Amino acid sequence: MRTPYRHEPFTDFENEDNRKAMLQALDQVKGELGKTYPLIIGGERVETEDKIVSVNPANPEEIIGYVSKTDRELAEKAIQVADETFNEWRKSDPAVRADILFKAAAIVRRRKTEFTAWAIKEGGKPWKEADADVAEGIDFLEYYGREMLRLKDGGHVISRENEYNQYHYIPLGVGIVISPWNFLFAIMAGTCVSALVTGNTVLLKPASATPVIAYKLLEVLEEAGLPKGVVNYVPGPGREVGDYLVEHPRTRFVSFTGSRAVGTGIFEKAAKVQEGQKWLKRSVIEMGGKDTIVVDSDADLELAAESIVQSAFGFSGQKCSACSRAVIVGDAYDEVKRLVVEKTKKISAGDPHDNSYFTGPVIEQKAYDKIMEYIEIGKKEANLLIGGDGDDSNGWFVQPTVFGEADQQAKIMQEEIFGPVVALTKAKDFDDAIEIANNTDYGLTGAVISRDRDHIEKARRDFHVGNLYFNRGCTAAIVGYQPFGGFDMSGTDSKAGGPDYLLQFMQAKTTSEMF
Ligand code: GLU
Repeated sequence: MRTPYRHEPFTDFENEDNRKAMLQALDQVKGELGKTYPLIIGGERVETEDKIVSVNPANPEEIIGYVSKTDRELAEKAIQVADETFNEWRKSDPAVRADILFKAAAIVRRRKTEFTAWAIKEGGKPWKEADADVAEGIDFLEYYGREMLRLKDGGHVISRENEYNQYHYIPLGVGIVISPWNFLFAIMAGTCVSALVTGNTVLLKPASATPVIAYKLLEVLEEAGLPKGVVNYVPGPGREVGDYLVEHPRTRFVSFTGSRAVGTGIFEKAAKVQEGQKWLKRSVIEMGGKDTIVVDSDADLELAAESIVQSAFGFSGQKCSACSRAVIVGDAYDEVKRLVVEKTKKISAGDPHDNSYFTGPVIEQKAYDKIMEYIEIGKKEANLLIGGDGDDSNGWFVQPTVFGEADQQAKIMQEEIFGPVVALTKAKDFDDAIEIANNTDYGLTGAVISRDRDHIEKARRDFHVGNLYFNRGCTAAIVGYQPFGGFDMSGTDSKAGGPDYLLQFMQAKTTSEMF
């Protein structure tokens, strides 16, 4: 019997031993930077001429690794391998598959500081965020393993006399998993292992900004006993490789986490039935957010300001759950604004290497340019209260930025920025605040800071987001505790880390036998 699931604890870096261990791991990883990584197709290492160059966003001259780039021919080969492997893997014992996840969790736990160091270097994450990312990856392994054990015997059905009815979950086939750079370990690992533990074979195409840590996961899975060909590592450009794989007639499902533009494109491409295709593809799509914290007039305003600052600026706002709008009711507005500015003054962005900054860089030049463009738009649409500066001379740093008195229709109140930018706006009353909060295309996370029970219940009913939090910030969902996923243009509400998640990668089969 396994111990009941509990989330992986976070590391206290105030503790001197932990701090030393982290610095040591960073040194170790520094010694491993700049290596070359092949593709993995059917367990075979395949080097290509053309390489993706992964860099440290805090110091782009530091090359994390040179990663082979998949082309169409290799993508085709990988699909064929995954298709053939599926014929065997689909018959494997779900308990054995779950065990591979438990073993992988143990290996990552043993190498936790090392993985955290990779996340710091390749993702530009502050220590705390990198540690949480790796902990969440371990959680996905532990949780989905247990979930597979729960689901392996199927669902309960009734049999009449002389009849034996069964209801089983069987795998789907070949899945394309396209993972994001922001949770470079956790979401990459979670989306990959959920697809394989359910008996599918996988083509893992990690984000081009963070392919090295994904290669490390493949090594862990191999060490944990995963047979060749079950997961194939195929990094490459979205247009050439991603689209080809998504549109392939042998692809059975797509699991994507990333931007709205790419996600909607994938959803559309996967929906088209290709020549020779004999199923309707499943699409599990998780996209962005325009997440709001609502502050009630009677709220604990200190808590409100702290929640806004933490949720807006943690990992430079590069979470789809990040707070990018705060709607504050009536008289509370001025005080919350004062407190948010005061708290923002105390934090800044800098190289996460020695853990002396609250937040690190943004992921790449393109992201930096886009965020700075939104800051310029914000300067015209609202009042710049603090921040507004960036520095891309070495690394891509954007200072935490707060705008005040933003109109709810303003671009900075409607469009996802994916950077350390938050806009404050005032609402007439609580009803008005919920209306403003709902006035976006997205529906991912939200929070309400209030002491009023009626208002809390109103929000529970009417605030239309997949993850709604009360009297806390709107980021940092924990696997198995707060299943994560959003409504509307945030995606298919897949609820990662929740009890329905694995069902998306299986189909139910009913058998009925007469005696
Ligand atoms: N699950 C993360 C959180 O709750 C966000 C995931 C994402 O940004 O994609 O903060």
